[in-house]
Amino acid sequence: MTHYTSYDLIEWAKPFEKRKNPLPKPKGSEVLIRVTAAGLCHSDLHVQKGYMDLGNEGRLTFAERGAELPMTFGHEIAGVVEKNGPDASAFKIGQQVLVFPWIGCGECAACQEERESDCASMRIIGLKQKGGFATHCLVEHEKFLVDIEGLDPADVVPHACSGITVYNALEKLGELRTDEWMAILGCGGLGMNAIAIARALGFENIIAVDVDDTKLNTAREMGAVKVLNSRDEGSVSKLQKLANNKLMGVLDTFGGSATAQLAVRALAKSGRFLIVGQAGGDFNMPQVWLPQKAMTVRGSHVGNSPQLQKIIDMVRSGKIKQIPIDRRPLSEINQAVHDLENGKVTGRIVFQPSEND
Ligand SMILES: [Zn+2]
Ligand SMILES: [Zn+2]
Repeated sequence: MTHYTSYDLIEWAKPFEKRKNPLPKPKGSEVLIRVTAAGLCHSDLHVQKGYMDLGNEGRLTFAERGAELPMTFGHEIAGVVEKNGPDASAFKIGQQVLVFPWIGCGECAACQEERESDCASMRIIGLKQKGGFATHCLVEHEKFLVDIEGLDPADVVPHACSGITVYNALEKLGELRTDEWMAILGCGGLGMNAIAIARALGFENIIAVDVDDTKLNTAREMGAVKVLNSRDEGSVSKLQKLANNKLMGVLDTFGGSATAQLAVRALAKSGRFLIVGQAGGDFNMPQVWLPQKAMTVRGSHVGNSPQLQKIIDMVRSGKIKQIPIDRRPLSEINQAVHDLENGKVTGRIVFQPSEND
């Protein structure tokens, strides 16, 4: 085989297009994988649109962030090792692996401490480097691969983004006492995994919040003890009541103005608000609430390589409940984007590239 297929973005805000590319030969410690599963994340939709909504500050375009087109996106990637570079030997040919896509500069203090997600110069696979919406993907070093042999790649691939992101945020949120509650705002792929991983980490008092009753039903199945449809009137007091006035943590997987409004109003004194979603807009609150409510507002960006290994270890020991996976051929990527955009997806869409792509 001399060529491989990818579905690339050629122009911002246009559909993905099929392209044939010469198959790269891995050098040094690089590894070429044949993609067996690639998750579609909400941030892929932002990327396709070409910008993030910065509210009153306008827009941040991905071009300004250093993304160049044409590009193969997709940062939740699993595959089998097809070819090792001359210096790569950790994985056997044919072995199933998961890619850690949040590669940092490798030099800064954050990278040295394996906190790649705090690196200011990330070289993310599927944004700055070619990603997984393709039949093949070249990974720059074998150390960015995690063994998932024996696991279903489509099931576990969302952990590379949604899993690791919520794991990182939940570590920052810290522990809750047995009578304290946390709310998970947004029940998309990120929110569903947040519930599953929170349960695996020992959080029990979880309230799932969304505007879609179907997703809230699935959230219950995933382990949320209570649910709230935030379309209802009086969401703030309802959420406080559900938490017995002890809402001490909120994890916002949506990350828009409306969810922030709900969080900062509903939190009890000394509560913690963790934001990982990037729907965008402005974050407004009376400033005195920060001292008066002794509130912590904190952001968290993706996750770190040791955390991905920990998550896969927890999956292997049966601790993390599986989120629903909607498997599709890679050739249907534009339809999938449309469905995700319109809220028609419960759980995660995962592409399974094949020889026909
Ligand atoms: Zn993502
Ligand atoms: Zn760095």
